[in-house]
Amino acid sequence: MFDQIKIWMRHLAHTKCAPLTLKFLPVSLLLTAGLAAAQQDFSKVQIKVTKVGGTVYMLEGAGGNIGVSVGEDGVVLVDDQFAPLAPKIREALKGITDKPIKFVLNTHFHGDHTGGNAQFSSEAPIIAQENVRKRLKEGGMVGGTEAKPASKEALPVITFNDRATVHLNGEDIRAIHFPNGHTDGDSVIFFPQSNVVHMGDDFVTYGFPFVDVRSGGSVSGMIAGVEKVLSMTPPDAKIIPGHGPLSTPADVRKFVQMLKETRALVAQAADQGKSAKQMKQDHLLAKYEELGKGFIKTEAWIDLLFAEATRKGGAEAGYQNHGHADEQK
Ligand SMILES: [Zn+2]
Repeated sequence: MFDQIKIWMRHLAHTKCAPLTLKFLPVSLLLTAGLAAAQQDFSKVQIKVTKVGGTVYMLEGAGGNIGVSVGEDGVVLVDDQFAPLAPKIREALKGITDKPIKFVLNTHFHGDHTGGNAQFSSEAPIIAQENVRKRLKEGGMVGGTEAKPASKEALPVITFNDRATVHLNGEDIRAIHFPNGHTDGDSVIFFPQSNVVHMGDDFVTYGFPFVDVRSGGSVSGMIAGVEKVLSMTPPDAKIIPGHGPLSTPADVRKFVQMLKETRALVAQAADQGKSAKQMKQDHLLAKYEELGKGFIKTEAWIDLLFAEATRKGGAEAGYQNHGHADEQK
């Protein structure tokens, strides 16, 4: 997977149309891929506000979708995109409420979801799973590039292992940790009274998902986590994806079925002694061709599934049951 990103980066570096290509790639994905150096003009970004249901709004700008609970007690933000967008995010909030921000939750540590932390931390404590703080503090490789250790101001000051609940606006806003999915610090945020769920990057709509293996992510963990979320979510709930438009549980189900089916196809072919290269030549995932036209190409997706299928302990090894989120021990 990371090899594929490297190849992709090399390809960009050696292609005359590279600037054009870069221009049309979502900024969040560029950063996820470690191309933070690509100059982005945040001045042109507009924050789109969508009322989702109950107390919850969705803010789209650049980077991960922001979930917002608004009510008489104040504002709870879920993720905060990039630092330069903080003034625009504040402006967008002013259009909804004059109440202050009370808490910020981070779904995971990636910079396109936590970049605004330092801007908001002086007014609202940041809450996140323990591994989010750890990875922000330490820095390290994301995709192909090194992320610098975050400043003190950008670090969550309240951390949890399994779950945390913020009781504001008549809502029990639950952050529940699902281990080893997109990363090892993912939380899905439930707004039960409003019937809304923010999935972080455990559910995205841009095609095959980015699974940050280097940061403890795994496809099997993502599948287990997403299935658990579905079992906890009413069919008429509204789903905020990490990236992409407002979705439904049916969309999430389709996504997890694709994950399972592609995983099974690759595991089966690996059992038959096929190499990843052969699977690519055979167009093993032809049915899902469209999904490979986004950020994660089909070949990279096959490489990732192949690595998981052939890892010692089998495909399930990437997911460890931590007793989280009502899992059966
Ligand atoms: Zn992410």
